[in-house]
Amino acid sequence: MINIAIDGPSGAGKSTVAKLVAKKLGITYLDTGAMYRVCALYATRMGADMDDEVQIKKLLPNISISFSGDGESKKVLLNGEDVSSQIREHHISKAASDISKLHCVRDFLVSQQRAIAATSDVVLDGRDITSNVLPDAEYKFFLTASVEVRAMRRYKELLARGENIDFEKVKSDIKDRDKNDSEREYAPLILTPDSTLIDSSDMTAEQVADTIISQINAKK
Ligand code: C5P
Repeated sequence: MINIAIDGPSGAGKSTVAKLVAKKLGITYLDTGAMYRVCALYATRMGADMDDEVQIKKLLPNISISFSGDGESKKVLLNGEDVSSQIREHHISKAASDISKLHCVRDFLVSQQRAIAATSDVVLDGRDITSNVLPDAEYKFFLTASVEVRAMRRYKELLARGENIDFEKVKSDIKDRDKNDSEREYAPLILTPDSTLIDSSDMTAEQVADTIISQINAKK
């Protein structure tokens, strides 16, 4: 199996790049962030408190996450319902970052991610793929960019989706999520010594994808 692990902070372009790499190599793309977002959406709908581990743990058995379609038309399903658009709403980003601190949520999702990686050639992106989900993956990358660039990318995405939001707010929320994701106690975002660091601030997604593929080819 080929497992390509890509970690990095919010807005670094991981999902765009991971999709491109998967397409170019003809393998599957697994968006692990979407899985945390689905849990956050479900918990929000149930009126749960994202910090209440006892309450959240009881909800997990009711959450079934699946994906349908491929490439740009890939959909994220919660109990069969297409929630691809709802999980990208701004308030769900914060809820996902909060819920992802809980051990029960991470254990619930990491076991599913490992099972997928064990049975298919896959590109996975997230925060803990290189360090925790697949520490033995043969190809590991850490994708980052300046806060300014990452906030601008997220801002444009949200505007395109019709969300009315201020750039400075997006930027401060990105900084908060960076802090949340890097400083949490369990499986924080870290740059592992065996990951290749790529700063995408001045690169297009195509250029980053090509850099990743050439590194993979060089290692083969
Ligand atoms: O990548 P994305 O922004 O969609 O992820 C949403 C949130 O899910 C992140 O802020 C992070 O807290 C959490 N996450 C995680 N581990 C992963 C992927 C995402 O903790 N592997």
